Amino acid sequence: MVEASQETTTKERLRQAGLRPTRQRMALAGLLFGAGHRHVTAEMLHEEALAAGISVSLATVYNTLHQFSERGLLRRLPIDGSKTYFDTNVSHHHHFYCERDGTLFDVPGGAMEICGVPQAPEGMEITSVDVVVRVRPKR
Ligand SMILES: [Zn+2]
Repeated sequence: MVEASQETTTKERLRQAGLRPTRQRMALAGLLFGAGHRHVTAEMLHEEALAAGISVSLATVYNTLHQFSERGLLRRLPIDGSKTYFDTNVSHHHHFYCERDGTLFDVPGGAMEICGVPQAPEGMEITSVDVVVRVRPKR
């Protein structure tokens, strides 16, 4: 019965976010939220979906990820111009980004201190400061 309750939770979560729990949204949400916090790109999730036997197009995966992040279920992390990661951990935190293989992982809470933030440009306000610490394996 664990699976059934997991499904109920996902359904409830989508409804509370104002999204109709369609079959495809439910399937993708199951992959996203089924196993702790993760960072995924549309391409990664699409591959996972196909491997799990979920027939869905890359465009649908992309749209779903954007809908989820617009409704606060995911956090959008534009890392490189070409790559957008989606984070299932929507609380505020910073990231390590491995330049070698493109993996993204969380900086442990409290390990980063930011002192001195520039003044926002005229007529704007700062909403958050996201730091990406770029790393690579030591030679
Ligand atoms: Zn994260």
